[in-house]
Amino acid sequence: LKKFSELQEEIDSKTILSCHSLTSSPPGWRILMVPGEPSIPNYINCLKQALIEFNTSIQEIIVAHWHQDHTGGILDICNSINTGITYHIIKLLHNLFMEEVIGNKEQKYVYLKDGDVINTEGATLKILYTPGHTDDHMTLLLEEKNALFSGDCMLGEGTTIFEDLYDFINSLEKLLKVKVDLIYPGHGPVINDAEAKIREYISHRNAWEHQILNFFHDNIGKLFTETNLLKMIYKNTPEHLYKADNINFSFHLNKLEKDGKNYQAQ
Ligand SMILES: [Zn+2]
Repeated sequence: LKKFSELQEEIDSKTILSCHSLTSSPPGWRILMVPGEPSIPNYINCLKQALIEFNTSIQEIIVAHWHQDHTGGILDICNSINTGITYHIIKLLHNLFMEEVIGNKEQKYVYLKDGDVINTEGATLKILYTPGHTDDHMTLLLEEKNALFSGDCMLGEGTTIFEDLYDFINSLEKLLKVKVDLIYPGHGPVINDAEAKIREYISHRNAWEHQILNFFHDNIGKLFTETNLLKMIYKNTPEHLYKADNINFSFHLNKLEKDGKNYQAQ
């Protein structure tokens, strides 16, 4: 997170902040995205300073998904930036409803759904349900800039993790159809060539899938233990790396099942 002083110029030029804290220009109230990790006093201080500087307040807090680096700071904000108004804290439901509690239960989530729109001064944010990284993940389309706040579905550097590869690829395909111009990821720098990056994510996973399918095709009727499968499919990869990728391999197998593509393994 940049220091507020470093962000001043970006605020003045009315661009979106790289920390994704504020989405409209003053003097309107602001939407806070990515409330961050718990117990980061610098973040809270920067946020307080920004709100005072622009004589504004938090309109809503949007939570992209349940992970702690996207929810952990909520309680600190509610406790430290107390305006006497209960904040609306917005997120999407998990697939299987689970009661989600924030701190001492004084704050509760307001659950929205795919396609809902949140308005603030200068910004219209459309919620896009994009599961895969988690089953409650949302991205947000900033209509005025045709830009996407991608949460952890797409990162500015490195690759992201996922709970469900089938859902993850479907979400990427969905984002591809939106045809955004740029992406503000939950972590890392802004992605300027949005379409190319989304296609890169999809093709990276497809390449592994083809490799796995080809292996099964060449070994019809044979039975392998998972360890042997990994050794044969990842034959050009050092063992410590494919062991680390073991969990991704399982995700690929689950996806193949959901796609209805048959394979035999034991
Ligand atoms: Zn995450």
